[in-house]
Amino acid sequence: MRTCILWFRNNLRLGDNWPVMQAYMNYDLVIPVYIDAGSQHNQKWVNGPRGEFREAFLIDSLMELNAGLMTYDSELVFLRETQSVNTLQSLAMEVGAMAIIGPKEFTFNEVFQEETLKHWGKSKGIEIEFYNEKTLFLQRDLPFKLNDLPEVFSRFRGKMEKYAHVREAIEEADISPFDPDDFNITREKLIKSAVSQDKRTAVPFRGGYINAWEELDYYFWESEKVLEYKQTRNGLLGRGFSSKFSPFLSLGCLSARQVKSELKRFEEEVESNESTYWLFFELLWREYFQWIALKHGKHLFSRHGLKPENIIEQGFNKRAFEKWTSGNTGDGLVDSSMKELAQTGFMSNRSRQNVASFLVHDMGLDWRAGAAYFEQNLIDYDPASNYGNWLYIAGRGNDPRPFRKFNTKVQAERYDPKGEFVNTWS
Ligand SMILES: Cc1cc2nc3c(=O)[nH]c(=O)nc-3n(C[C@H](O)[C@H](O)[C@H](O)COP(=O)(O)OP(=O)(O)OC[C@H]3O[C@@H](n4cnc5c(N)ncnc54)[C@H](O)[C@@H]3O)c2cc1C
Repeated sequence: MRTCILWFRNNLRLGDNWPVMQAYMNYDLVIPVYIDAGSQHNQKWVNGPRGEFREAFLIDSLMELNAGLMTYDSELVFLRETQSVNTLQSLAMEVGAMAIIGPKEFTFNEVFQEETLKHWGKSKGIEIEFYNEKTLFLQRDLPFKLNDLPEVFSRFRGKMEKYAHVREAIEEADISPFDPDDFNITREKLIKSAVSQDKRTAVPFRGGYINAWEELDYYFWESEKVLEYKQTRNGLLGRGFSSKFSPFLSLGCLSARQVKSELKRFEEEVESNESTYWLFFELLWREYFQWIALKHGKHLFSRHGLKPENIIEQGFNKRAFEKWTSGNTGDGLVDSSMKELAQTGFMSNRSRQNVASFLVHDMGLDWRAGAAYFEQNLIDYDPASNYGNWLYIAGRGNDPRPFRKFNTKVQAERYDPKGEFVNTWS
Protein backbone atom coordinates (compact mmCIF):
# COMPACT_ATOMS: atom_id res chain seq x y z
CA MET A 1 0.00 0.00 0.00
CA ARG A 2 1.47 3.36 -1.04
CA THR A 3 1.15 5.51 2.06
CA CYS A 4 1.86 9.22 2.46
CA ILE A 5 1.58 11.82 5.18
CA LEU A 6 -0.28 14.93 4.17
CA TRP A 7 1.03 17.74 6.37
CA PHE A 8 -1.50 20.55 6.77
CA ARG A 9 0.04 23.91 7.71
CA ASN A 10 -1.64 27.17 6.70
CA ASN A 11 -3.81 25.51 4.05
CA LEU A 12 -6.84 24.45 6.09
CA ARG A 13 -9.27 23.70 3.28
CA LEU A 14 -10.00 20.93 0.79
CA GLY A 15 -10.60 22.89 -2.45
CA ASP A 16 -7.89 24.57 -4.58
CA ASN A 17 -5.17 22.88 -2.62
CA TRP A 18 -2.29 21.41 -4.65
CA PRO A 19 -0.64 19.39 -1.87
CA VAL A 20 -4.00 17.81 -1.01
CA MET A 21 -4.67 17.02 -4.66
CA GLN A 22 -1.20 15.53 -5.16
CA ALA A 23 -1.45 13.36 -2.05
CA TYR A 24 -4.83 11.86 -2.91
CA MET A 25 -4.02 11.47 -6.60
CA ASN A 26 -0.77 9.60 -6.09
CA TYR A 27 -1.11 7.55 -2.89
CA ASP A 28 -3.49 4.78 -1.78
CA LEU A 29 -3.47 5.76 1.85
CA VAL A 30 -3.22 9.39 2.94
CA ILE A 31 -2.68 10.33 6.59
CA PRO A 32 -3.76 13.97 7.12
CA VAL A 33 -1.83 15.57 9.97
CA TYR A 34 -1.75 18.98 11.66
CA ILE A 35 0.93 19.73 14.24
CA ASP A 36 0.32 22.62 16.59
CA ALA A 37 3.78 23.79 17.60
CA GLY A 38 2.39 26.47 19.92
CA SER A 39 3.28 30.15 19.96
CA GLN A 40 6.25 31.19 17.83
CA HIS A 41 6.45 34.89 18.66
CA ASN A 42 9.59 36.35 20.13
CA GLN A 43 9.44 35.66 23.87
CA LYS A 44 11.89 38.49 24.44
CA TRP A 45 8.97 40.91 24.19
CA VAL A 46 5.79 38.96 24.73
CA ASN A 47 5.24 36.01 26.98
CA GLY A 48 2.50 33.49 27.03
CA PRO A 49 0.56 31.46 24.53
CA ARG A 50 -1.36 32.67 21.49
CA GLY A 51 -4.10 35.18 22.19
CA GLU A 52 -7.46 33.55 22.90
CA PHE A 53 -9.12 34.85 19.73
CA ARG A 54 -6.30 33.69 17.49
CA GLU A 55 -6.37 30.30 19.20
CA ALA A 56 -10.16 30.02 18.82
CA PHE A 57 -10.03 30.92 15.12
CA LEU A 58 -7.40 28.25 14.51
CA ILE A 59 -9.29 25.56 16.40
CA ASP A 60 -12.53 26.38 14.58
CA SER A 61 -10.70 26.14 11.28
CA LEU A 62 -9.17 22.78 12.18
CA MET A 63 -12.55 21.49 13.31
CA GLU A 64 -14.17 22.42 10.02
CA LEU A 65 -11.35 20.79 8.11
CA ASN A 66 -11.71 17.67 10.20
CA ALA A 67 -15.48 17.65 9.68
CA GLY A 68 -14.86 17.92 5.93
CA LEU A 69 -12.45 14.97 6.01
CA MET A 70 -14.88 12.94 8.11
CA THR A 71 -17.54 13.14 5.42
CA TYR A 72 -15.12 10.96 3.42
CA ASP A 73 -14.43 8.64 6.38
CA SER A 74 -11.05 10.19 6.98
CA GLU A 75 -9.80 12.03 10.06
CA LEU A 76 -7.29 14.77 10.80
CA VAL A 77 -4.52 13.62 13.13
CA PHE A 78 -4.16 16.60 15.47
CA LEU A 79 -0.93 16.70 17.48
CA ARG A 80 0.51 19.21 19.91
CA GLU A 81 4.31 18.97 19.70
CA THR A 82 6.97 21.65 19.76
CA GLN A 83 9.08 20.11 16.99
CA SER A 84 7.02 19.62 13.83
CA VAL A 85 9.87 18.19 11.79
CA ASN A 86 10.87 15.54 14.36
CA THR A 87 7.24 14.58 14.84
CA LEU A 88 6.74 14.10 11.10
CA GLN A 89 9.91 12.06 10.83
CA SER A 90 8.89 9.70 13.65
CA LEU A 91 5.38 9.32 12.29
CA ALA A 92 6.64 8.60 8.79
CA MET A 93 8.88 5.82 10.11
CA GLU A 94 6.12 4.42 12.31
CA VAL A 95 3.56 4.08 9.52
CA GLY A 96 6.03 3.22 6.75
CA ALA A 97 5.19 6.32 4.69
CA MET A 98 6.72 6.63 1.23
CA ALA A 99 6.25 10.39 1.18
CA ILE A 100 5.46 13.52 3.13
CA ILE A 101 3.54 16.14 1.18
CA GLY A 102 2.75 19.66 2.34
CA PRO A 103 2.16 23.27 1.31
CA LYS A 104 5.11 25.48 0.52
CA GLU A 105 5.66 28.36 2.91
CA PHE A 106 7.58 31.59 2.33
CA THR A 107 9.14 32.65 5.63
CA PHE A 108 12.52 31.70 7.04
CA ASN A 109 11.65 29.17 9.77
CA GLU A 110 9.09 27.41 7.63
CA VAL A 111 11.43 27.19 4.63
CA PHE A 112 14.10 25.85 6.96
CA GLN A 113 11.70 23.08 8.07
CA GLU A 114 11.13 22.19 4.41
CA GLU A 115 14.87 22.02 3.69
CA THR A 116 15.53 19.91 6.80
CA LEU A 117 12.82 17.45 5.88
CA LYS A 118 14.03 17.20 2.29
CA HIS A 119 17.55 16.49 3.42
CA TRP A 120 16.34 13.81 5.84
CA GLY A 121 13.98 12.33 3.23
CA LYS A 122 16.88 11.84 0.83
CA SER A 123 18.82 9.84 3.38
CA LYS A 124 15.80 7.62 4.13
CA GLY A 125 14.46 7.22 0.60
CA ILE A 126 11.25 9.06 1.54
CA GLU A 127 9.91 11.53 -0.95
CA ILE A 128 9.35 15.03 0.44
CA GLU A 129 7.29 17.42 -1.69
CA PHE A 130 6.04 20.94 -1.04
CA TYR A 131 3.52 22.56 -3.39
CA ASN A 132 2.59 26.22 -3.51
CA GLU A 133 -1.11 26.75 -2.86
CA LYS A 134 -0.76 30.12 -1.16
CA THR A 135 -0.08 32.73 -3.78
CA LEU A 136 -1.83 33.92 -6.92
CA PHE A 137 1.24 33.18 -9.02
CA LEU A 138 3.75 30.35 -8.95
CA GLN A 139 7.43 31.14 -8.76
CA ARG A 140 7.87 30.12 -12.38
CA ASP A 141 5.18 32.66 -13.38
CA LEU A 142 7.19 35.58 -12.01
CA PRO A 143 8.55 37.65 -14.90
CA PHE A 144 11.90 37.96 -13.10
CA LYS A 145 14.21 35.82 -11.00
CA LEU A 146 13.46 35.89 -7.27
CA ASN A 147 16.71 37.75 -6.64
CA ASP A 148 15.54 40.47 -9.04
CA LEU A 149 12.17 40.91 -7.31
CA PRO A 150 11.63 44.70 -7.27
CA GLU A 151 12.10 46.30 -3.85
CA VAL A 152 9.26 48.73 -4.52
CA PHE A 153 5.67 47.49 -4.72
CA SER A 154 4.58 49.68 -7.65
CA ARG A 155 7.28 48.15 -9.85
CA PHE A 156 6.28 44.64 -8.81
CA ARG A 157 2.62 45.35 -9.50
CA GLY A 158 3.39 46.92 -12.90
CA LYS A 159 5.35 43.87 -14.02
CA MET A 160 2.85 41.34 -12.67
CA GLU A 161 -0.11 43.05 -14.29
CA LYS A 162 1.69 43.24 -17.61
CA TYR A 163 3.36 39.85 -17.82
CA ALA A 164 1.81 37.35 -15.40
CA HIS A 165 -1.53 35.54 -15.26
CA VAL A 166 -3.23 34.41 -12.10
CA ARG A 167 -3.56 30.63 -11.97
CA GLU A 168 -7.07 29.18 -11.97
CA ALA A 169 -8.35 27.64 -8.74
CA ILE A 170 -8.56 23.83 -8.87
CA GLU A 171 -11.37 21.54 -7.70
CA GLU A 172 -11.54 19.53 -4.51
CA ALA A 173 -9.58 16.25 -4.47
CA ASP A 174 -11.22 12.82 -4.16
CA ILE A 175 -10.53 12.15 -0.49
CA SER A 176 -9.97 8.52 0.45
CA PRO A 177 -10.83 6.97 3.83
CA PHE A 178 -8.34 6.78 6.69
CA ASP A 179 -8.77 5.61 10.28
CA PRO A 180 -5.95 6.59 12.71
CA ASP A 181 -6.89 3.63 14.93
CA ASP A 182 -5.71 1.25 12.21
CA PHE A 183 -2.20 2.52 13.02
CA ASN A 184 -2.71 3.09 16.74
CA ILE A 185 -1.91 6.77 16.26
CA THR A 186 -2.48 8.69 19.48
CA ARG A 187 -3.86 12.14 18.75
CA GLU A 188 -5.36 15.08 20.63
CA LYS A 189 -9.02 15.96 20.60
CA LEU A 190 -10.04 19.22 18.97
CA ILE A 191 -12.17 21.09 21.50
CA LYS A 192 -14.20 24.12 20.53
CA SER A 193 -13.08 27.21 22.37
CA ALA A 194 -15.52 28.82 24.78
CA VAL A 195 -14.33 32.35 23.99
CA SER A 196 -17.28 34.62 23.29
CA GLN A 197 -17.41 37.39 20.74
CA ASP A 198 -17.61 41.03 21.71
CA LYS A 199 -20.76 42.63 20.29
CA ARG A 200 -18.65 45.46 18.82
CA THR A 201 -16.42 43.17 16.78
CA ALA A 202 -15.72 43.85 13.10
CA VAL A 203 -15.31 40.10 12.53
CA PRO A 204 -18.57 38.50 13.72
CA PHE A 205 -17.75 35.08 12.32
CA ARG A 206 -15.75 31.98 13.21
CA GLY A 207 -12.90 30.20 11.48
CA GLY A 208 -13.14 27.43 8.93
CA TYR A 209 -13.44 26.97 5.18
CA ILE A 210 -17.24 26.80 5.16
CA ASN A 211 -17.47 30.01 7.18
CA ALA A 212 -14.97 31.54 4.76
CA TRP A 213 -17.26 30.90 1.80
CA GLU A 214 -20.20 32.34 3.73
CA GLU A 215 -18.22 35.56 4.28
CA LEU A 216 -17.22 35.64 0.66
CA ASP A 217 -20.86 35.24 -0.37
CA TYR A 218 -21.84 37.98 2.04
CA TYR A 219 -19.23 40.48 0.88
CA PHE A 220 -19.67 39.88 -2.86
CA TRP A 221 -23.13 38.59 -3.63
CA GLU A 222 -25.39 39.36 -0.69
CA SER A 223 -24.29 42.87 0.30
CA GLU A 224 -22.34 43.78 -2.88
CA LYS A 225 -20.13 45.83 -0.59
CA VAL A 226 -17.16 45.07 -2.80
CA LEU A 227 -18.59 47.66 -5.22
CA GLU A 228 -17.67 50.44 -2.78
CA TYR A 229 -14.48 48.93 -1.38
CA LYS A 230 -12.18 51.68 -2.64
CA GLN A 231 -14.18 54.34 -0.79
CA THR A 232 -14.75 52.38 2.43
CA ARG A 233 -11.52 50.38 2.90
CA ASN A 234 -10.02 52.91 5.31
CA GLY A 235 -12.95 52.49 7.70
CA LEU A 236 -12.48 51.64 11.35
CA LEU A 237 -15.82 50.29 12.54
CA GLY A 238 -18.17 47.50 11.49
CA ARG A 239 -18.20 44.43 9.29
CA GLY A 240 -18.42 45.70 5.73
CA PHE A 241 -15.85 48.49 5.29
CA SER A 242 -13.36 45.93 4.01
CA SER A 243 -13.61 42.27 3.05
CA LYS A 244 -12.35 40.68 6.33
CA PHE A 245 -10.98 37.81 4.23
CA SER A 246 -7.58 38.03 5.94
CA PRO A 247 -8.13 35.54 8.80
CA PHE A 248 -9.33 32.97 6.26
CA LEU A 249 -6.49 33.71 3.85
CA SER A 250 -3.86 33.51 6.57
CA LEU A 251 -4.91 30.05 7.72
CA GLY A 252 -5.69 28.99 4.19
CA CYS A 253 -9.40 28.38 4.80
CA LEU A 254 -9.68 30.31 1.54
CA SER A 255 -7.04 30.61 -1.17
CA ALA A 256 -6.13 33.87 -2.87
CA ARG A 257 -6.95 32.19 -6.19
CA GLN A 258 -10.43 31.27 -4.96
CA VAL A 259 -11.02 34.92 -4.02
CA LYS A 260 -9.70 36.09 -7.38
CA SER A 261 -11.88 33.55 -9.29
CA GLU A 262 -14.98 34.62 -7.40
CA LEU A 263 -14.11 38.29 -7.92
CA LYS A 264 -13.81 37.66 -11.65
CA ARG A 265 -17.19 35.92 -11.70
CA PHE A 266 -18.71 38.84 -9.79
CA GLU A 267 -17.19 41.34 -12.24
CA GLU A 268 -18.62 39.39 -15.19
CA GLU A 269 -22.07 38.79 -13.73
CA VAL A 270 -22.71 41.96 -11.71
CA GLU A 271 -20.30 44.82 -12.24
CA SER A 272 -16.65 45.64 -12.56
CA ASN A 273 -15.48 49.01 -11.23
CA GLU A 274 -12.54 50.72 -9.55
CA SER A 275 -13.41 49.08 -6.23
CA THR A 276 -13.48 45.53 -7.55
CA TYR A 277 -10.09 46.19 -9.11
CA TRP A 278 -8.83 47.61 -5.82
CA LEU A 279 -9.54 44.39 -3.96
CA PHE A 280 -7.29 42.63 -6.45
CA PHE A 281 -4.71 45.39 -5.91
CA GLU A 282 -4.67 44.58 -2.19
CA LEU A 283 -4.28 40.88 -2.91
CA LEU A 284 -1.19 41.88 -4.87
CA TRP A 285 0.18 43.50 -1.71
CA ARG A 286 -0.29 40.21 0.09
CA GLU A 287 1.40 38.48 -2.81
CA TYR A 288 4.28 40.92 -2.77
CA PHE A 289 5.05 40.38 0.92
CA GLN A 290 5.17 36.60 0.40
CA TRP A 291 7.80 36.87 -2.33
CA ILE A 292 9.72 39.51 -0.36
CA ALA A 293 9.81 37.10 2.59
CA LEU A 294 11.11 34.30 0.40
CA LYS A 295 13.77 36.56 -1.10
CA HIS A 296 15.03 38.08 2.14
CA GLY A 297 14.81 35.10 4.52
CA LYS A 298 15.84 35.87 8.07
CA HIS A 299 16.40 39.60 7.38
CA LEU A 300 12.63 40.07 7.51
CA PHE A 301 12.82 39.35 11.24
CA SER A 302 16.05 41.14 12.06
CA ARG A 303 16.34 44.49 13.79
CA HIS A 304 17.63 46.28 10.70
CA GLY A 305 15.20 44.53 8.40
CA LEU A 306 15.98 45.04 4.73
CA LYS A 307 17.88 48.29 5.34
CA PRO A 308 21.10 47.51 7.22
CA GLU A 309 22.43 50.94 6.25
CA ASN A 310 19.75 52.83 8.24
CA ILE A 311 20.77 53.89 11.71
CA ILE A 312 18.71 52.33 14.52
CA GLU A 313 17.10 54.82 16.86
CA GLN A 314 14.55 52.59 18.52
CA GLY A 315 15.15 51.05 21.92
CA PHE A 316 12.96 49.22 24.38
CA ASN A 317 11.18 50.16 27.57
CA LYS A 318 8.95 47.51 29.11
CA ARG A 319 6.63 49.92 30.93
CA ALA A 320 6.10 52.07 27.86
CA PHE A 321 5.45 48.94 25.78
CA GLU A 322 2.83 47.75 28.26
CA LYS A 323 1.08 51.11 27.98
CA TRP A 324 0.87 50.51 24.26
CA THR A 325 -0.35 46.90 24.48
CA SER A 326 -2.97 47.70 27.12
CA GLY A 327 -4.26 50.83 25.35
CA ASN A 328 -3.05 53.34 27.93
CA THR A 329 -0.80 55.65 25.95
CA GLY A 330 -3.12 58.65 26.28
CA ASP A 331 -3.71 58.83 22.51
CA GLY A 332 -7.42 58.13 21.93
CA LEU A 333 -7.11 56.57 18.49
CA VAL A 334 -4.17 54.35 19.43
CA ASP A 335 -5.68 53.24 22.73
CA SER A 336 -9.06 52.39 21.19
CA SER A 337 -7.36 50.39 18.44
CA MET A 338 -5.28 48.42 20.92
CA LYS A 339 -8.38 47.68 23.00
CA GLU A 340 -10.17 46.47 19.91
CA LEU A 341 -7.28 44.09 19.18
CA ALA A 342 -7.22 42.77 22.74
CA GLN A 343 -10.97 42.19 22.78
CA THR A 344 -11.50 40.77 19.30
CA GLY A 345 -8.16 39.69 17.79
CA PHE A 346 -8.71 42.08 14.87
CA MET A 347 -7.85 45.63 13.89
CA SER A 348 -8.46 47.50 10.62
CA ASN A 349 -5.57 48.24 8.28
CA ARG A 350 -5.80 51.98 9.06
CA SER A 351 -5.59 51.28 12.80
CA ARG A 352 -2.65 48.92 12.33
CA GLN A 353 -0.76 51.64 10.50
CA ASN A 354 -1.54 54.17 13.21
CA VAL A 355 -0.58 52.03 16.19
CA ALA A 356 2.56 50.72 14.49
CA SER A 357 3.71 54.21 13.57
CA PHE A 358 2.95 55.42 17.10
CA LEU A 359 5.00 52.65 18.69
CA VAL A 360 7.99 53.19 16.45
CA HIS A 361 8.01 56.92 15.74
CA ASP A 362 6.25 58.51 18.73
CA MET A 363 7.31 56.12 21.50
CA GLY A 364 10.67 55.24 19.93
CA LEU A 365 10.29 51.52 20.69
CA ASP A 366 11.75 48.59 18.78
CA TRP A 367 9.41 47.61 15.93
CA ARG A 368 9.96 43.89 16.64
CA ALA A 369 8.17 44.17 19.98
CA GLY A 370 5.04 45.46 18.23
CA ALA A 371 5.29 42.80 15.55
CA ALA A 372 5.61 40.08 18.22
CA TYR A 373 2.51 41.36 20.01
CA PHE A 374 0.56 41.36 16.73
CA GLU A 375 1.83 37.84 16.06
CA GLN A 376 0.52 36.68 19.40
CA ASN A 377 -2.92 38.21 19.01
CA LEU A 378 -4.06 38.80 15.44
CA ILE A 379 -6.54 36.22 14.18
CA ASP A 380 -5.17 36.88 10.70
CA TYR A 381 -1.50 36.66 11.69
CA ASP A 382 0.60 35.88 8.66
CA PRO A 383 4.39 36.08 9.08
CA ALA A 384 5.17 37.62 5.69
CA SER A 385 2.38 40.23 5.84
CA ASN A 386 2.93 41.07 9.49
CA TYR A 387 6.70 41.49 9.46
CA GLY A 388 6.66 43.01 5.96
CA ASN A 389 4.16 45.69 7.01
CA TRP A 390 5.96 46.41 10.28
CA LEU A 391 9.24 46.87 8.46
CA TYR A 392 7.53 49.13 5.96
CA ILE A 393 6.27 51.42 8.70
CA ALA A 394 9.51 51.30 10.66
CA GLY A 395 11.35 52.52 7.56
CA ARG A 396 13.31 49.29 7.25
CA GLY A 397 11.33 47.57 4.50
CA ASN A 398 9.99 48.26 1.03
CA ASP A 399 8.80 51.82 1.45
CA PRO A 400 10.49 54.18 -1.02
CA ARG A 401 9.81 57.00 1.48
CA PRO A 402 12.49 56.87 4.16
CA PHE A 403 10.24 58.04 6.99
CA ARG A 404 6.53 57.28 7.25
CA LYS A 405 5.04 58.70 10.42
CA PHE A 406 1.28 58.90 10.86
CA ASN A 407 0.03 61.90 12.78
CA THR A 408 -2.69 60.31 14.90
CA LYS A 409 -4.47 63.62 15.54
CA VAL A 410 -4.83 64.23 11.80
CA GLN A 411 -5.79 60.58 11.32
CA ALA A 412 -8.53 60.90 13.94
CA GLU A 413 -9.92 64.04 12.24
CA ARG A 414 -9.93 62.34 8.87
CA TYR A 415 -11.09 58.81 9.70
CA ASP A 416 -13.04 59.26 12.93
CA PRO A 417 -14.37 62.83 12.70
CA LYS A 418 -17.34 62.18 15.02
CA GLY A 419 -15.30 60.13 17.46
CA GLU A 420 -17.50 57.06 16.93
CA PHE A 421 -14.60 54.65 16.85
CA VAL A 422 -12.91 56.08 19.92
CA ASN A 423 -16.22 56.14 21.82
CA THR A 424 -16.95 52.53 20.89
CA TRP A 425 -13.69 51.22 22.32
CA SER A 426 -12.87 53.62 25.14
C1 LIG B 1 1.58 46.74 11.04
C2 LIG B 1 0.71 45.86 10.16
C3 LIG B 1 0.64 44.49 10.40
C4 LIG B 1 -0.15 43.68 9.58
N1 LIG B 1 -0.22 42.31 9.84
C5 LIG B 1 -0.94 41.51 9.02
C6 LIG B 1 -1.02 40.11 9.26
O1 LIG B 1 -0.40 39.56 10.17
N2 LIG B 1 -1.80 39.36 8.41
C7 LIG B 1 -2.47 39.92 7.36
O2 LIG B 1 -3.17 39.20 6.64
N3 LIG B 1 -2.40 41.24 7.12
C8 LIG B 1 -1.67 42.06 7.90
N4 LIG B 1 -1.64 43.41 7.66
C9 LIG B 1 -2.26 43.93 6.42
C10 LIG B 1 -3.71 44.43 6.56
O3 LIG B 1 -3.83 45.30 7.64
C11 LIG B 1 -4.73 43.29 6.69
O4 LIG B 1 -4.50 42.34 5.68
C12 LIG B 1 -6.15 43.82 6.55
O5 LIG B 1 -6.40 44.81 7.51
C13 LIG B 1 -7.12 42.69 6.70
O6 LIG B 1 -8.45 43.13 6.60
P1 LIG B 1 -9.32 42.74 5.34
O7 LIG B 1 -9.22 41.29 5.05
O8 LIG B 1 -10.67 43.29 5.54
O9 LIG B 1 -8.53 43.51 4.17
P2 LIG B 1 -9.03 44.09 2.79
O10 LIG B 1 -8.79 45.56 2.82
O11 LIG B 1 -10.38 43.64 2.45
O12 LIG B 1 -7.99 43.49 1.75
C14 LIG B 1 -8.20 42.23 1.08
C15 LIG B 1 -7.03 41.31 1.35
O13 LIG B 1 -5.84 41.86 0.79
C16 LIG B 1 -4.72 41.55 1.64
N5 LIG B 1 -4.12 42.80 2.13
C17 LIG B 1 -4.71 44.00 2.25
N6 LIG B 1 -3.82 44.93 2.69
C18 LIG B 1 -2.65 44.27 2.86
C19 LIG B 1 -1.36 44.66 3.29
N7 LIG B 1 -1.06 45.92 3.65
N8 LIG B 1 -0.40 43.70 3.37
C20 LIG B 1 -0.64 42.42 3.03
N9 LIG B 1 -1.85 42.01 2.60
C21 LIG B 1 -2.84 42.91 2.51
C22 LIG B 1 -5.26 40.73 2.78
O14 LIG B 1 -5.08 39.37 2.50
C23 LIG B 1 -6.73 41.10 2.82
O15 LIG B 1 -7.56 40.11 3.37
C24 LIG B 1 -0.86 44.25 8.48
C25 LIG B 1 -0.78 45.63 8.28
C26 LIG B 1 -0.02 46.43 9.10
C27 LIG B 1 0.03 47.91 8.83
